[in-house]
Amino acid sequence: MERIEIRTNESTELIDITGEVKGIVKRKSVESGICVIFTKHTTTGIIINENEAGLKNDILMLLNVLIPKGKGYLHDRIDDNAHAHLKSVVLGSSVTIPIENGTLALGTWQSIFFVECDGPRRREVSVMVVKG
Ligand code: ZN
Repeated sequence: MERIEIRTNESTELIDITGEVKGIVKRKSVESGICVIFTKHTTTGIIINENEAGLKNDILMLLNVLIPKGKGYLHDRIDDNAHAHLKSVVLGSSVTIPIENGTLALGTWQSIFFVECDGPRRREVSVMVVKG
C-alpha cells in the first residue's frame, strides 16, 4: 500500500493525481493487474474524467446544484458540513483501474481526480497495486 499526500487549497476542488498514481504503478513493475485508488476521508471523492478546465468547473457546479450547503441537513448540527459528506456519497471513495503492459489502461481522455468537498485540508489517498 502506497500513500499520496495532498494539501488542498479550496473548499471544493478537483486535483489531478494521475501522474502520482502512474509513478507508483511504474515503481511496482507489475505487467498485468489492477490498481485501486482509495480516499480515507468522508468528505472527499475519487473520480475518473477528462482534465479540461471548463469541465472541472462544470463538475463542481453540478455538485453545488445537486447538494447546496445548509439545506437543513441533520448532520449540520454536529459540524456544519453535511453537504460535503453528501457530495462524497455521490462521488464514491475509490476507483479501480486495469494495468496492462505495466501501465494504467486509462482511455485517452481519462484522468484520475481527487475531489475535495470540505477544504482546505491535508488529505491522504491510498494506492494499492495488485498483480493479476
Ligand atoms: Zn461532518
